Amino acid sequence: MSDSYRLLQPADLRPRNTFGVAAHARRLIEVLDAAALPQALAALDGDTRPLVIGGGSNLLFAGDTVDALAIIDARRSVVSDDGERVVVRAAAGADWHGFVLWTLAQELGGMENLALIPGTVGAAPIQNIGAYGVEVGEHVVAVEAFDQDTRNFVRLDAEACRFGYRDSVFKQMPDRWIVTAVEFSLHRFAEPVLDYAGLRDVLAARGITAPRPLDVAEAVIDIRRSKLPDPALIGNAGSFFKNPIVSAAQAAALVAAHAGIPVFAVDEGLRKLSAAWLIDRCGWKGHRDGDAGVAPGHALVLVNHGNAQGTELLGLARRIAASVQMRFGVALEPEPKIVGAAW
Ligand SMILES: Cc1cc2nc3c(=O)[nH]c(=O)nc-3n(C[C@H](O)[C@H](O)[C@H](O)COP(=O)(O)OP(=O)(O)OC[C@H]3O[C@@H](n4cnc5c(N)ncnc54)[C@H](O)[C@@H]3O)c2cc1C
Repeated sequence: MSDSYRLLQPADLRPRNTFGVAAHARRLIEVLDAAALPQALAALDGDTRPLVIGGGSNLLFAGDTVDALAIIDARRSVVSDDGERVVVRAAAGADWHGFVLWTLAQELGGMENLALIPGTVGAAPIQNIGAYGVEVGEHVVAVEAFDQDTRNFVRLDAEACRFGYRDSVFKQMPDRWIVTAVEFSLHRFAEPVLDYAGLRDVLAARGITAPRPLDVAEAVIDIRRSKLPDPALIGNAGSFFKNPIVSAAQAAALVAAHAGIPVFAVDEGLRKLSAAWLIDRCGWKGHRDGDAGVAPGHALVLVNHGNAQGTELLGLARRIAASVQMRFGVALEPEPKIVGAAW
C-alpha cells in the first residue's frame, strides 16, 4: 500500500456501474497519482490485466472480474493560451460533465455539445464520445497513457488515436493502454455546431440568435434530460447499440423495401442507419422481461427496472439484435463494453 494507491479486496462493483447490476472484483486498486501506476500494477501482479473502470456508464457486467483499476486523479489545468486557442489538460479521473462545465465557465468553446454525458475524462477517448454533431476526437490534442505492453508512459497525438465513429485505437487494441490524462484544444471564438435536429429550435424558442457555448450547452442539457432516462433513477448505459454502418447498395435496398427508413450519408460508399428506428420497428420500445427492459421513450436504451442481472440484460440485447437481423438483415453491435461474456 502507498499514498498513491489503495487496494480494496473484494470490491462491490454494483455502485460502480450505471446499469446498477450486481458484480464483484476480487481486487480493485484505486490510483490517486498516475505516476504510481507501475507500482500499483506490480502490487496487483495478476495473471490478467485489470479492467479499467471510470464511471461505469459504458459497461455491462455479465459476470465478475478478477482485478479492476480506477484512476482517481481529477486535476485540470490550462496548458497554453494564445488569446484565441486554449489547450487544457484534465486527468483521467475527472468527471466528464464537471470538466465541460469548467471549460464553459472560462467561456471556452468546443465541449458544449458534449455536456451531460456521464463518465470520466479518461474514458472519453475510448469510444470517441459523441453527441449533437460533435465527437470528442475533433478536440483531442493528445492522450497520455500507460502502455501495458511496453510498460512505458506514452503520449498519443490525435492521429495515433485513430478516432472513428464510437471507435479509437483504444477500442481496437483493448486492455493495452490505461489513459491517465487528455489534452483538448478549445477556442474562445468557436463557431457553434447547431446542425443537430432540435438544437436550433430550442435556442430560437429562447430568443437566442448568437448563442455562446454556455447557451448551446444549456440547450443540449435540456434536450438530453427530456429524452434520456437518468441512471440515478433507472439503471442504464445510454444507447446500447451503435448505429450500424452499411454499404450504399444495402442502404438503397433497405430504402426500397422499408418506407421511411432513415439513412445518413457517411461517405461515398457507406451509409449510417438509425439503430433506434430499426429496434422500434421490431416492436421493442417499452418491452420488459422481468427487470430487464427497453426504455418506453427510447428504443436504443436498455434499462434495469430494479434487480436485473447483467446476463438478463445481455440476453435481451441479443434477442433485440437477432430480430433486427431477421427483419432487416442488419447486424447490431453493442456500444458498452461487456464484461464476463462475449457478444
Ligand atoms: C444516460 C447515458 C447517456 C450517455 N450518452 C452518451 C452520448 O451521448 N455519447 C456517448 O458517446 N456516450 C454516451 N454514454 C456512454 C458513456 O457515458 C460514455 O461512453 C463515457 O465516456 C463512459 O465513461 P465512464 O467513465 O463511465 O467509462 P466506463 O463505463 O467506466 O468504461 C467504458 C470503457 O472505457 C474503458 N476505460 C475507462 N476509463 C479508462 C481509462 N482511464 N483508461 C483506459 N480505459 C478506460 C473501460 O475499460 C471500458 O472499456 C451515455 C451513458 C449514459 C448512462
